[in-house]
Formats: sequence, structure tokens, C-alpha cells
Amino acid sequence: MEIKKLKNFLDEYLKIAEIEDVSVNGLQVEGKKNVNKICFAVDACAETFKLAKKENADMLFVHHGMIWGGIKKVTGINYLRLKFLIENKISLYASHLPLDKHEEVGNNIQFLKIFGINEAIEDFGTYHGIKIGYAGRFEKEKNLSDFVSEIEKQLNTKCKILKFGKEKIKSVGVVSGGAASLIDEAIENVDCFVTGEPSHQVYHIAKEGKINVIFAGHYATETVGVKAMAEFIGKKFGIETKFIDVPTGL
Ligand SMILES: [Zn+2]
Repeated sequence: MEIKKLKNFLDEYLKIAEIEDVSVNGLQVEGKKNVNKICFAVDACAETFKLAKKENADMLFVHHGMIWGGIKKVTGINYLRLKFLIENKISLYASHLPLDKHEEVGNNIQFLKIFGINEAIEDFGTYHGIKIGYAGRFEKEKNLSDFVSEIEKQLNTKCKILKFGKEKIKSVGVVSGGAASLIDEAIENVDCFVTGEPSHQVYHIAKEGKINVIFAGHYATETVGVKAMAEFIGKKFGIETKFIDVPTGL
């Protein structure tokens, strides 16, 4: 498949132009003209790049790209990363907030789908003026501890929990990655708030707001959309796709 066609499809499907972001979303590095294999990963980093090369990938699709706010310097780590991609003719496509927010393959909607939270789905989690997460309800109340065990098993992660709400939960709001600052909106709307990275700052707010907060890992919460995207693109275009797992444990 021609890279131009693929890029245009991805830009449109992920609504790249509609979402304001510090990440420069879209094609960040241009490699070969034709794409026969795409690797998918959470982070653009030397380890992921090497694994993509080993897989003979023509393109790497990531959630956290290389260019944030614009190119400042092509030196040091940045130089080495770019050099590797250019020398190996591997394209780099990044989709940060657009992949969090996406209504089909996004990190947040996928999280709800995986854990069977499929009632009363609505937009949730205002970031940069737009809702990038989703909230929904379990069909039947669920024990917080069971939910945590399921998350740890499914996402291969270790959760940190602020258990200040009810043990039996019904509504869940999720914003992947580092979104602890959305705690106030969560207190207003849901029994349980799930995000990736823990934040000391929200401890007492959660306590006084009587809400459960699950920090399920920045990396882990952002694998679900990337994996869904790999499956979707593979099926849609008949291109070989592969998810590259480089966990940070954070
Ligand atoms: Zn992130």
C-alpha cells in the first residue's frame, strides 16, 4: 500500500486535524514509498525502532511519537533515533490524543469494552478543552477488588488503588495515561476513576471526594488502543501488522 494513501486514511480516520495536541500527530518521519508491514507500539524509542527493524516493518505506528510541539534540536538521542529510522527507511506515524479519544479503536473506549462496561457510555474527561475519555456503567454492580484483579490480569499490570469509595461499583470513568488531574470531574460523575499514572496530588482530593481511583499504569492503559488499531488496520487493508511490547512498568 502506498504510504500517501495510508497516511491520508489514518489522518481522516483518527481525525488528526480536529484535535489540538502538543504531539505533532500524523506522519512524523517518512520512509519507504510502499508499506507492506506495520508495527504498532506505545512509545517511539530506540528499543521499539530496533524491534520494528527486526520485524522488517516499513512503518511504525505509535501513541507517543518523537515530535512534541515541533523539532527543537536534532542532536543526541533525537539524532540517533531519527538517523536509525531514516537509514532503515522506516516511517513513523504518531497518534496521541486522537487515539485516546477515538470512538472505536481509542484507548479509553477499548478499556470500557474489554471490561464489559457497556451501558450509558458517554464522553468524559476534559483535557485541552475536549473530552478525551469515556464513562460507562456495568450492567450489574461489581466489587472493586474483582475489577482490579481483572485489570491486572488482562493488561498484565500492577494497579495502585485509592479505595475511598464504595466497594460495590457501577459507574467507571477512564482516561488513559497521566490524567490524575481529572479527579474533580470523576468525583462528580462516577464511582470509580481509572487512569494510568499515580499522582500524590490527588490522594486527599480522592479521600475527601469519597471516590475509588485505580492507577493501572501509563503504559498498560495505552496498549489497548494501539492493539485495537493494529487489528483494525490489518483487517481493513490486508497488511501485516504486529504489536511490539516494550513495557515501562510505569
Ligand atoms: Zn501517554
